[in-house]
Amino acid sequence: MALYTDDSIERLRQTVDMAELVGAKTELKRSGQQMMGICPFHDERSPSFSVDPVQKVFHCFGCGEGGDLFKFVQLTEGLNFREAVESLSDRYGVTMELTEEDPQAAQRREKRDRLLELLERTAAFYVRNLWESPEAEESRQYLAGRGLDEALLREFRVGYAPSAWDKVLVASRQSGYSEAELWDAGLTAKNQKGNVYDRFRRRITFPLCDPRGRVLGFGARAVGADQQPKYLNSSENVVFHKGRQVYAADLARAAAAKSGEVILCEGYTDVIALHQAGLRNTVGLMGTALTEDQVSELARMAPVVALALDADSAGQEAMIRAAKVAEGRKLELRVVPLPAGNDPADIVQQEGPEAITKLVAGSVPFVRFRVDRALLLADLATAEGKDRAVSELAPIITPLPASAMRDELTELAAAALGVSGAKLTEWLGRARPLAASAPPAATATEDGSKGESQPPRPAATVIDPGARVERAFLVQCLADPGVGREALAAMDLEADFVSPVFLRAAQLIL
Ligand SMILES: [Zn+2]
Repeated sequence: MALYTDDSIERLRQTVDMAELVGAKTELKRSGQQMMGICPFHDERSPSFSVDPVQKVFHCFGCGEGGDLFKFVQLTEGLNFREAVESLSDRYGVTMELTEEDPQAAQRREKRDRLLELLERTAAFYVRNLWESPEAEESRQYLAGRGLDEALLREFRVGYAPSAWDKVLVASRQSGYSEAELWDAGLTAKNQKGNVYDRFRRRITFPLCDPRGRVLGFGARAVGADQQPKYLNSSENVVFHKGRQVYAADLARAAAAKSGEVILCEGYTDVIALHQAGLRNTVGLMGTALTEDQVSELARMAPVVALALDADSAGQEAMIRAAKVAEGRKLELRVVPLPAGNDPADIVQQEGPEAITKLVAGSVPFVRFRVDRALLLADLATAEGKDRAVSELAPIITPLPASAMRDELTELAAAALGVSGAKLTEWLGRARPLAASAPPAATATEDGSKGESQPPRPAATVIDPGARVERAFLVQCLADPGVGREALAAMDLEADFVSPVFLRAAQLIL
């Protein structure tokens, strides 16, 4: 990708008013050559953050953060260098020059720019339709019924794709776009005869944007109950790559950088509802299970991610999956405890913005969520159920370093199991690890924002992972009865088997 020339970057540096740029984030007071203020990068009461408005650099004597104007924008808005340059050049109206590109690269960029312009125009067309077309009345009512204000819907550029087969096709052709360009922008579909028509029809459209807010594609929700699928995304194409963006990252970026936390929801309307409730650091999943790329994007926005996914089992599986993808990264995962059967948009609408703000503030560390969930799903009325709960809890609690958190979780679980903390610690130490946790299940169809059109997945597996190990073990014992009997004889069957069925089988083999 072409770079900006040093000359134009220098010109931009000279144009930007550093005091104004930083002053928008933290109040500055002059102190000799410097200006001082409260550091936007760490918590402090007395100002140790200094800005040199002439050199256009900043430095914090408290936390050591420092750099030039571009670094400041990168840090406060969660952008990379190039994005910071582009954001500042937009704001200060400085035209940037690109270094010489090879002709092929220049051609690719021109082609891409045209597609982006086409998508931008289409987004505007959908927005106009939503607010002006009589046909969109049902959609306007649906959105109002979800408690979403027009101001927010306009900010998110929510639109309506009309039911006709060719509105976008015809209008774009008239504006000089080729059929190939429409196809490349993901705006058309083809039937078996090769006839081309509008991809999005009779749907509420949600533009999916890059970090600078440029439209790359759309997520679209069906209006009619008869329409399939319920959620339809842009297809993979030249500009849109599924699973790379998170929804509304452009609108949430600054707030996320400032608060150090980004909230992740499932549905488009959940994201808009949370922004409306003042939680401006909220983004959405865009109808796919969380990908590596999306986790990277979240990590770029803030060091803490609060998962506000539905309390249904699909949402819970999504959280487990998110944790797997986030494993090994410097990213703190927290879980917002949502009441079952209510998505975040419902809560905002029914109980008001304070209710959701309170829930988000009450988020718990992911490990706490796992312990709660294991206890919730356990049958604590029987000894067998308790044993199983212990083997579920062991891989969650045992790897934790000695800490207040570990003690607290142990006490919590011990209380639920009706034993002392010491007893549970002893049990946890002896618990055999489960073979493997259940495979992460995809939580949404590629097109479905919540997979709502999908039949519910069967609850859990028929055999739990612990029992599966036991079955495999018994199969081996039967395959080689001599060795098998010897192995079984050496075991304390009643203590070692989780499954009563396989315990009985083991006793019979013996
Ligand atoms: Zn600082």
